[in-house]
Amino acid sequence: MSKIIVLMGAPGAGKGTQARLLQQRLGLPQISTGDMFRALGETKTPLAEEVRAIQQAGKLIPDELVIRVVEDRTAKDDCRRGYILDGFPRTAAQAEMLEELARRQLKKLSAILIDVPLQLLEKRMTGRRSCPICGEIYNLYFRPPKLDNKCDRHPEAELIQRTDDRQEKVRVRLETYERETAPLLDYYQHTGRLHRVDGLRSPEEIYGDIVKILNEEVVRTNPAN
Ligand code: AMP
Repeated sequence: MSKIIVLMGAPGAGKGTQARLLQQRLGLPQISTGDMFRALGETKTPLAEEVRAIQQAGKLIPDELVIRVVEDRTAKDDCRRGYILDGFPRTAAQAEMLEELARRQLKKLSAILIDVPLQLLEKRMTGRRSCPICGEIYNLYFRPPKLDNKCDRHPEAELIQRTDDRQEKVRVRLETYERETAPLLDYYQHTGRLHRVDGLRSPEEIYGDIVKILNEEVVRTNPAN
């Protein structure tokens, strides 16, 4: 049965980094609602302006819109073998919709929590920078680029900071996470689908932990393997 890999964790925990590695190495599409709405925010439509304002304030985009975007994206052909969700679900309504979607698509859901202590997240977010060309994620404190503020692979490009990673927005996002999203962890835990990985390890080690979890699940589902 193909799989929906749900990467859970607070903003700054490293979901995007892991989603990119999983996409590159397992060949499953990474579906990042944050990236999709950032791209939408750059278009010149009235909806774009609304989305941009919500994102820049660090608030959540209304469930109805997020749900429509995820339904649309996951209906595409490249999702047939499974997909990786990064930044979705974030509310109870989104989690309910995802259950329904998984049933309809005959996919098994695995939630993986990248666990990072709250007090470290602020630095992770304010230090985060990314390459405007390849999307590679760096961190000024924890994973600095080789040259000052330049991508290792695209030194012609200055790294960029997301507007919502600025100090004043980071608190709002962490509060929103605690209030709306953290309760979903209990739900996945109670239904036996939550796996935790230590988010303080290196990206490669965390990736190794995630792949181990995914492989163990395959063995449990198909004991004959
Ligand atoms: P992210 O890149 O996942 O940190 O998301 C950045 C911003 O996009 C969030 O702070 C929200 O404004 C918006 N966003 C992304 N995913 C969702 C979601 N599942 N529900 C509501 N808003 C979202």
